[in-house]
Amino acid sequence: MIVMKFGGTSVESAAAIERVAAIVQARLDRRPIVVVSAMGRTTDKLLAIGGEAVRGRRNQALARVAELREFHLREARPLVLPSDQSELDCVIEEHFRELVELVQGLAVLGELTPRSIDAISSYGERLSSRIVALAFRQYGIESAHVDSRCLIVTDRRHTQAAPLLFQTYSRLSAVLPELARDKVVVMGGFIGASEDGVTTTLGRGGSDFTAALVGAGVDAEEIQIWTDVDGVLTCDPALFAGAHRVKTISFAEAAELACFGAKVLHPATVLPAMEKNIPVVVLNSRRPEVPGTRIVSQTVPCANVIKSVACKRNITVVNIHSTRMLMAHGFLHRIFEIFDRYETPVDMVATSEVSVSLTIDNANHLAEICEELRPFAGVGVENDQAIVCVVGDNLRFTPGVAARVFTALRGVNVLMISQGASLLNLSFVVAGSDLPGAVASLHREFFVTLDSAVFD
Ligand code: ADP
Ligand code: ASP
Ligand code: MG
Repeated sequence: MIVMKFGGTSVESAAAIERVAAIVQARLDRRPIVVVSAMGRTTDKLLAIGGEAVRGRRNQALARVAELREFHLREARPLVLPSDQSELDCVIEEHFRELVELVQGLAVLGELTPRSIDAISSYGERLSSRIVALAFRQYGIESAHVDSRCLIVTDRRHTQAAPLLFQTYSRLSAVLPELARDKVVVMGGFIGASEDGVTTTLGRGGSDFTAALVGAGVDAEEIQIWTDVDGVLTCDPALFAGAHRVKTISFAEAAELACFGAKVLHPATVLPAMEKNIPVVVLNSRRPEVPGTRIVSQTVPCANVIKSVACKRNITVVNIHSTRMLMAHGFLHRIFEIFDRYETPVDMVATSEVSVSLTIDNANHLAEICEELRPFAGVGVENDQAIVCVVGDNLRFTPGVAARVFTALRGVNVLMISQGASLLNLSFVVAGSDLPGAVASLHREFFVTLDSAVFD
């Protein structure tokens, strides 16, 4: 068995879903289980609709629901056999009737809770998985749709739910191998349900995580992540056009990249695969002939020190200083306790005698956090910063890498530096506007000659 996950762009239109069908059909002998994201930008649109509904823009929200319905009907109709058209119409009507009721309810309540955010954002994957399952029949692929909410059991941390692994793996292994014997199972990524059956989601980009859970749950031989780029590249190609494909990378390296912003993989994806030692392969659904990137347990020896550069934009740096001794007992605890109470993760930290600088990704509660810090410390905030993280297993064995990195970045103001925590990465903070230049300089320093065993 293999798991094949297709992201939003890979199922964004009728033409894209046709490509998916051809890719799956060519791999039927490997008994695929297919996990799909919402079509195109549907999740963003659903969240925007929820926001409009609660801000008193009920009619605009309903008009956008109607547009989304049209979009799904238009793209799905040509994909489905004439004998399946009425089933398709029923599926779409039923989902959009519920969605309209939900939006009307939200407009009355005027409040978007995490639970209702999950309710509304789940419709993308609920629809796309039904549509893809029906579309497969037209291509002679016998398919079976499974509602992921019956298999992925999570806690109740809506919008960021964590799977309850024991229950999830028991259900996946009880249901899927049997069904996958003679059918291609199609299920939605991203969504799950709490033990009492309330819809939850695994966080944005979470379909990759669903694929990894499914792979681990059924002991798949491989987990394939089909997306819109040729694999894991030496950086986000949207940031720097000269990025190269990394042919193979270790679980540990991929986990660091995902954690520091390489959106091509959701950060939670690697762990379930690593625990079961299942290779994860990242592939391009527009260019299925490209071999992609294999993520495996062992690192392949590589002449280049660095494998890839991850970046996180829109980072906020918080500088906290105190004239009293910062290192006095309990001071850092007091600071972190405040971030913790506002459920705001801290990514990077640097300390001196009188100050501590830290970075946060989610600045939703920054005003309250600053308010609580001010009675005992001075607080400065710098918005629009970026974390750059160079990753490679060789970093631990190669002296002088930091010198090369910062020499390459001559002229760029580096605000914070962190190395040592994992030994596989060196990360630092620059102004968001310096990011493209910094990434280009790092490529000139580290990726001019490439080890052909690892890079394309
Ligand atoms: P999907 O919808 O298939 O899940 P995503 O948009 O979540 O796709 O992830 C793919 C995107 O990740 C690419 O289009 C690319 O812009 C971005 N990306 C960021 N870092 C990297 C990287 N190191 N290698 C490849 N892609 C990356
Ligand atoms: N559709 C969800 C999102 O846009 C999950 C995913 O695509 O992985 O975040
Ligand atoms: Mg994604």
